[in-house]
Amino acid sequence: MTIRSVCVYCGSSPGKDTAYLQAARALGEEIARRGLTLVYGGSIVGLMGEVARTALEGGSRVIGVIPKALAEQEIAFLELCELEQVDSMHARKARMAELADGFISLPGGFGTFEEFFEVLTWSQLGLHAKPSGLLNIAGYYDHLLAFLRHTVSQGFVHPAHLDMLMVCEQPVELLDRLNAYDPPPGDKAAWVRAMNKLAGSKGDGNPG
Ligand code: AMP
Repeated sequence: MTIRSVCVYCGSSPGKDTAYLQAARALGEEIARRGLTLVYGGSIVGLMGEVARTALEGGSRVIGVIPKALAEQEIAFLELCELEQVDSMHARKARMAELADGFISLPGGFGTFEEFFEVLTWSQLGLHAKPSGLLNIAGYYDHLLAFLRHTVSQGFVHPAHLDMLMVCEQPVELLDRLNAYDPPPGDKAAWVRAMNKLAGSKGDGNPG
């Protein structure tokens, strides 16, 4: 599918390594160079503000989606083309996911992880067919990626579901891969049924 709008999840902090801010700028520049719309959390702080500023300067349409309570704390990016204020954090995530054709996570903290895992979970359930990518800057996500491989080896994540995640170090490569994404057939429910059937046939009492 051709990506026209991309949602970026990233830290509301800049992080300690300057490579993170550089990557946020590089992603904002590439989004603008491709004429894509940026959808993000609407804040002016940290990596979030950096991606948005750079994309805006490059001529992108930028849509920020922010809960009213946060906007009132005056950390919203008021020069944005569009700032949508919503009632809750949940409403914000749903709206961001709806507006975007694909998702990219830069380094960040709990907020970024929550957003990253939510859209990935929706993918494996077949609730949407939009691609998710991780920008692994300066090895920030190495431990997470090792853990995700562990989840597969322990039978909690289907290999095909982990394969849906695209991991790159460069925004150019990641955006190319998002464009070329072909969602796998089937969904998590089908996999759970297959796993239960297998466990049942081994006679362990699982209903199958
Ligand atoms: P974190 O990674 O914990 O810094 O959280 C950043 C992510 O959570 C972003 O992708 C935002 O969508 C959301 N978020 C966290 N803090 C804010 C904030 N102050 N304003 C808007 N969104 C935020």
